[in-house]
Amino acid sequence: MNKLYDENNVFSKILRSEIPCNKILENECALSFSDINPQAPIHILIIPKNPYINFYDFSKNASIKEVELFWKLVNDVIEQVNLTTNGFRIISNCGHDGNQDVPHFHLHLLGGKNLGRMIN
Ligand code: AMP
Repeated sequence: MNKLYDENNVFSKILRSEIPCNKILENECALSFSDINPQAPIHILIIPKNPYINFYDFSKNASIKEVELFWKLVNDVIEQVNLTTNGFRIISNCGHDGNQDVPHFHLHLLGGKNLGRMIN
């Protein structure tokens, strides 16, 4: 267990089924669900099931199996919600400068319209 990981964060509670989510897909190592405050017609979050704080923590410390199944789920979700043709954007906010609100690693998968320029 990473000592800096906050087990009270909202995604940790979702993983423990203490609060509900609108699940899209899951596998042994990762879970995807709708963002509660969507910023695009399609806005899905993909998270690992184990406690990693952010992209850096996950990439540095997750097992090969976790990394493989995490990215497999990302592609499975992309196919499930039909984003392969028109495209999408993936964002991962990390830390203070990335304005990360929830300290459990997650990707935002956004699509369903032209999303404009990357940063305003
Ligand atoms: P970030 O700023 O990258 O940490 O993004 C956190 C995201 O989590 C935001 O887009 C929120 O809308 C989303 N969020 C917060 N609580 C929930 C929840 N209970 N279910 C689904 N998404 C949530």
